[in-house]
Amino acid sequence: MTVSKPILPGAALGVLGGGQLGRMFCHAAQSMGYFTAVLDADAASPAGLVSHYHIQTAYLDEKGLTELANISAAITTEFENVPAAALATLATKRPVSPSAESVAIAQNRVAEKAHFVACAAKGGADAITVAPYAVIETAVDVVAIADDLLPGILKTTRLGYDGKGQIRVATQAELTAAFAELGGVTCVLEKMLPLKAEYSVILARGRDGQVVHFPPQLNVHVDGILATTSVYEGNMPLAGIKRAIAAAISVANELQYVGVLCVELFLLHDDTLVVNEIAPRPHNSGHYTIDACDVSQFELQVRTLCGLPLTQPRQHSPAIMLNILGDVWFAGNSATAQTPPWDQILALPGAHLHLYGKKDAKKGRKMGHLTITGANVEAVQATTAKAAAILGIAKY
Ligand code: ATP
Ligand code: MG
Repeated sequence: MTVSKPILPGAALGVLGGGQLGRMFCHAAQSMGYFTAVLDADAASPAGLVSHYHIQTAYLDEKGLTELANISAAITTEFENVPAAALATLATKRPVSPSAESVAIAQNRVAEKAHFVACAAKGGADAITVAPYAVIETAVDVVAIADDLLPGILKTTRLGYDGKGQIRVATQAELTAAFAELGGVTCVLEKMLPLKAEYSVILARGRDGQVVHFPPQLNVHVDGILATTSVYEGNMPLAGIKRAIAAAISVANELQYVGVLCVELFLLHDDTLVVNEIAPRPHNSGHYTIDACDVSQFELQVRTLCGLPLTQPRQHSPAIMLNILGDVWFAGNSATAQTPPWDQILALPGAHLHLYGKKDAKKGRKMGHLTITGANVEAVQATTAKAAAILGIAKY
């Protein structure tokens, strides 16, 4: 369903998925005066805990979806792998953004790559670059692979996240073994590229096609999981900034996308920018926007969903976001979980602590994040180093 009039505060907004992204969406919506409804089967989900309404059913449960549609004036998603069919069902009754079609493309690496290739073909001078790749469906495809795709990374078409569902391969024999290890499901083999750095660009696109965006964000991963996002003047070579933003906008425009979109990019050693993948929602690399920008990625999600005006975000402080994983509860090789010394963290000027309300700390589980802001990047870096030392985060 489409709407012509904006949905104003006082209405209820629905979100599929109860994770931390949904929680921060609820916070943003509530601070603007909306009511929120979360659909997530988990009684203790981070978003369910803070929402006015929490419907505890599976994503495809008809009763649950009907209830969500009845409560909500419009509905969004916070979870990339929510079945596109659930969004399509809701869209027959209420405005839904992003659309089921956009989410379906982002959920499927083959469709996603094909979309990037289509954008590249149309891009002219601003054409985006895509890593060389091949789709692998059968053992025959494995044998037929061009040698120059190796060494490469074999990635499952669906359900990959935080580096899961992918295996690095150097030879045909390793590729054969990796394809079997991933269960023989359809995969994409991507050529291994020489990365100088990784970035993301987050944008919001309205129903009328208006686009606003955040600056390119420098991301560092440790063990396949985002560890830090650094956003300050000079975090990317100047020539790359315009190209990164143009690439992200072209990907969104070609999708007729409505909502908040994150585009992950690789900067190669020869300064080529390559589009890696998209997330059809706010992104972990955009959490700093809550504390360092005059409008956050979550507020922009509310605005796009409600058909409200979008204003170009202004970052008012340099910032580093440090992810807080469950490992921090086991610092110093403790066998049992210990509450980290949050009081020491809160003694640091410019430290903004966000915890997601998850009861059980597990290694590798995203429990929260810390955004450090300051007057200049040197101060931010120094404070981040202190925070990491307090929390026992050695690699960041
Ligand atoms: P997430 O959902 O956490 O963003 P993911 O599991 O969906 O990640 P990708 O983003 O495709 O997977 O890859 C994870 C990481 O692996 C990238 O951030 C990058 O560090 C590395 N990587 C992926 N593809 C390539 C490539 N073609 N060449 C070099 N490194 C790569
Ligand atoms: Mg990724």
